[in-house]
Amino acid sequence: MDLRNIAIIAHVDHGKTTLVDALLKQSGSFREGQAIAERALDSNDLERERGITILAKSTSVNWGETRINIVDTPGHADFGGEVERILSMVDGVVLLVDAAEGPMPQTKFVTSKALALGLRPIVVLNKVDKPDAEPDRALDEVFDLFANLGADEEQLDFPVLYASGRSGWADTELDGPRDSLRPLFDLVVAHVPPPEQVAKADAPFTMLATTLEADPFLGRLLTGRIEQGSLAAGATVKALSRDGKEIERFRVSKVLAFRGLARQPIERAEAGDIVALAGMAKATVADTICDPAVETAIPAQPIDPPTITVT
Ligand code: GDP
Repeated sequence: MDLRNIAIIAHVDHGKTTLVDALLKQSGSFREGQAIAERALDSNDLERERGITILAKSTSVNWGETRINIVDTPGHADFGGEVERILSMVDGVVLLVDAAEGPMPQTKFVTSKALALGLRPIVVLNKVDKPDAEPDRALDEVFDLFANLGADEEQLDFPVLYASGRSGWADTELDGPRDSLRPLFDLVVAHVPPPEQVAKADAPFTMLATTLEADPFLGRLLTGRIEQGSLAAGATVKALSRDGKEIERFRVSKVLAFRGLARQPIERAEAGDIVALAGMAKATVADTICDPAVETAIPAQPIDPPTITVT
């Protein structure tokens, strides 16, 4: 299946949650539509009852033959390098801006990191249904922000959509048909490159651990993007520290993929995909999880103590 990995960047209250909900509802293309969203929610409830689900801060939606992983980014400035680590898993970002408020200080931090990583944002001017919306002014402010942050020419030439996430539409024109989020799905697929990792599908498995969580049932969970190769649940892997020292070998007890709002155990994950792994005792953020034959760690930025999210 074709894959895209993106992050949605937004100031708090600019409508990220509402937009992701609308994307989930409209995804699976119009063929399967609602059924998929409902199934995702159902299985999530079921798993929650059994105590094994972790409400993902990331989601994935299907659009035709393409699966779009959407990873969440903290909206606030953090000092642990978490934003960089998360953005290094994706190949594109959607910058969501309230068309009445324009870009806010907290958006700037994450935007600056995205631009520095060479990502080319898609700009969505959201809530244009608000009576006080000023999409033209908001657009000028976004352009100025990018220019001030040193965006290159390609980044400054960003595609723009006008949207109302709450009404479930987005369009390249303000006076467009306002009937669906199709233009946003299509733009993500067209503008965001597929992960390069897909090309390295036959190599031995490697993954850079990006975030760490403590799940009450599964224990330590490390999320990251598979750099090369594939991983089957039950496989034995090892963890290498940033300097290439072996930390531990362990059996991968679960490979969890994002499906709708839930994380679901899968049998095998492939290069380019973003997954969470369970089974490790010591491995942590910035470690390389890899096939036992691999000797070299994936280069990772130095980190402050990782943020642990207890779910
Ligand atoms: P988040 O903090 O970015 O996740 O924002 P939410 O999705 O929770 O939305 C914040 C508030 O904005 C809620 O009251 C939403 O109902 C409202 N909202 C979200 N999208 C829109 C929109 O397209 N138009 C309008 N008028 N309000 C919206």
